[in-house]
Amino acid sequence: MLELKHIKKTYHVGDTETKALDDISLSFRQKEFVAILGVSGSGKTTCLNVIGGLDRYDSGDLVINGKHTVDFKDRDWDAYRNNSIGFIFQSYNLITHLGIVENVELGMTLSGVSRDEKHRRAVEALTKVGLEDHIHKKPNQLSGGQMQRVAIARALANDPDIILADEPTGALDTTTSVQIMDLIKEVAKDKLVIMVTHNPELAENYADRIVRFADGRVVSDTNPYEEEKQDDHFKLKKTSMNFFTALRLSFNNIRTKKGRTALTAFASSIGIIGIALILSLSNGFQIQIDKFQRESLTNFPIIISKQSASVNPEQMVAQSKKYKDYPKAKTAIPYDPQNDSMMHTNIFTEDYMEYIKKVDPQTVGSIGYTRVVGMNLLSKQDKGITRVDSKALNFSSYPTSLKAKGQTNKSYLKQNFDLLQGSYPKDKQDLILVVDKKNRISTQLLEALGLDKDAKSIDFHELVGKELKVVPNDLFYQSTPMGTFTFNQNYQQMYDNEKSLSVRIVGVFRQKKDVVMSELNAGIAYRDDLVQYVIDADKDSAILKAQQTSDRNVLTMEPLDADTKTQMISYLGGDETPYVITIYPRSFNAKDDVLKYLDAFNKGKSKEDQVIYTDMADTITSLSGGIIDGITMVLVAFAATSLIVSLIMIAIITYTSVLERTKEIGVLRALGARKKDITRVFDAETCLLGIFSGCLGIAIAYFLTFPINSIIYAATELKNVAQLQPIHAVLLIVISTVLTMLGGHIPARMASKKDAVEALRSE
Ligand code: ADP
Ligand code: MG
Repeated sequence: MLELKHIKKTYHVGDTETKALDDISLSFRQKEFVAILGVSGSGKTTCLNVIGGLDRYDSGDLVINGKHTVDFKDRDWDAYRNNSIGFIFQSYNLITHLGIVENVELGMTLSGVSRDEKHRRAVEALTKVGLEDHIHKKPNQLSGGQMQRVAIARALANDPDIILADEPTGALDTTTSVQIMDLIKEVAKDKLVIMVTHNPELAENYADRIVRFADGRVVSDTNPYEEEKQDDHFKLKKTSMNFFTALRLSFNNIRTKKGRTALTAFASSIGIIGIALILSLSNGFQIQIDKFQRESLTNFPIIISKQSASVNPEQMVAQSKKYKDYPKAKTAIPYDPQNDSMMHTNIFTEDYMEYIKKVDPQTVGSIGYTRVVGMNLLSKQDKGITRVDSKALNFSSYPTSLKAKGQTNKSYLKQNFDLLQGSYPKDKQDLILVVDKKNRISTQLLEALGLDKDAKSIDFHELVGKELKVVPNDLFYQSTPMGTFTFNQNYQQMYDNEKSLSVRIVGVFRQKKDVVMSELNAGIAYRDDLVQYVIDADKDSAILKAQQTSDRNVLTMEPLDADTKTQMISYLGGDETPYVITIYPRSFNAKDDVLKYLDAFNKGKSKEDQVIYTDMADTITSLSGGIIDGITMVLVAFAATSLIVSLIMIAIITYTSVLERTKEIGVLRALGARKKDITRVFDAETCLLGIFSGCLGIAIAYFLTFPINSIIYAATELKNVAQLQPIHAVLLIVISTVLTMLGGHIPARMASKKDAVEALRSE
């Protein structure tokens, strides 16, 4: 059955070596009760461990059922321990966080016996050792004798061929010892039982055969046995523990230390909480920005200005990056500053103006033209008629709305302004008065309209209906004999002249609350066709003709340079091209089409002939988008550091757990668990911890979004900014689990490498 041939085993501690087994040769029968008797340190435990495959012999041969074990691999020994050996230890070695049934089941769990079968056999074994009434207890609720019975039941449950008992009654009182010995004697009826003891009385009273040990040698044998040649008919069923079993084992273990687990999970969830909050905030802000873009930035126009700054944030970044690295070569590089200049002068040719006019009205809601054309204005007041400076009125034109089939043709005014008093303008003679957000209008404007600028408030009624006269150049300016021009002082005559156009305020308007930006400032605004009218009326005026041919200001006779002369001509109505064109796309999506249309004009044109526009909305959003991304990245990096910290913490915790569970590791190994299985037990524990802390982190982060949102709402009136995305939640739990398992894996590997014998010796 079992044969030890010249087995030797030496231990080395530092430089000294101990011969634990010194040439042991022994043969055992299939069924007998053998007692190995010897004083302490004679090598009894070592011999038992070698027989049980828990400790390896150095030389010699151990033959099991005719099979030589010299070539046994780890796997074979694991299987051998699991299938053929049942260990009973002096100190019982039960796993305290498992119930007694589960303790008994453990060996069968490793060999993959089905659940029901396992349970049935465990209960049967426990009944056999007389513990049927204690099945639902935990090991620490039992007496020493009862615990040893559980250990015997565990040794028997998997129906091994050999039971190895190392001082099974060493920790028990005499009465209990007798009961346990009777039980072992009973077991020995149909198994080979090898019991180690230093008590000769016990050996003589119970054992069939006594083998005496001294100094690692057999000194006597009461019933030696010579093994006959046997065929090799020894088969082993390989053991393995599945991950689920490992999980259950770890779950039970974790349950016994709830407080510590909760604290650990909380500490390691902090990183997850941080990242989850940052992601939900940045995500929320991005959503807010997108919403803002859709709602408000639609109103942001595309601006085409004569002096256009052709910069965008990307270019600026590229620019600053470009000059980061100084060239190493000692050479100068020629370049044309013009090419690198960020300013560009747009030339609005007639072609271009036509091109703009032909823009698809399906995509563009309105177009505004800003011109330098001055208007000659008169106002009738109580003290008489006076000249009005158009600057005092903040006199400007508002964009013209385009009509398109199938589109909501809300006019520019309707879309952006509230009508506070009066009516919408219908033709070029109708002016509107725009008040600012606080309903204010400038005192200069009030004065120009002949109203009391010192009044506390002025009723809107008084403003509506106010009349002004637009006087043509030829009436407004008079030529002098010297060829210069002066202002006509006869206001009454100009005012009453039929060539003067009377215009009047028809409505009071104010910018809508949710409109972010509009072209119109507080003041008086007119339709674009009023300018057209003035230009037409003045294009043949004498003063304009004179100015066009003179290099001096025809009013003051001051000399003019080219630029100021152009300005002067424009002012007198000699140039109808605007200096700013403002295009309002109908929607955010339509804008792309408009931009494409504008880009199409530039295709194939030289740089100077190109017309460059500024997309206000784009400038703003690409800036803000980049900033949010950047901030998110920095914050996530910070939070990630706390993940690393928790990773290290988990590693330490797992390491302590390994130290704490050393005994359990030994028991599992004695029951036939592979090294891999031991790793699994601890991996399972960290897996549970990771999932737990991940879920905890996500839950805490989720609940934190509520107070955070109310704080943000109080500060910014933005609702529900922090929003935890389900995909982020799942991802973070996965990350937490993976990281925790990573942190625990090295200690788990260390656990599996623990020497089983050492592990069992530890207290
Ligand atoms: P017994 O069980 O008969 O008391 P052991 O088999 O435990 O004796 O020990 C036999 C000898 O081997 C002793 O001298 C003991 O110190 C030594 N020994 C046993 N295990 C180890 C070990 N893991 N490391 C070093 N020496 C050991
Ligand atoms: Mg011993």
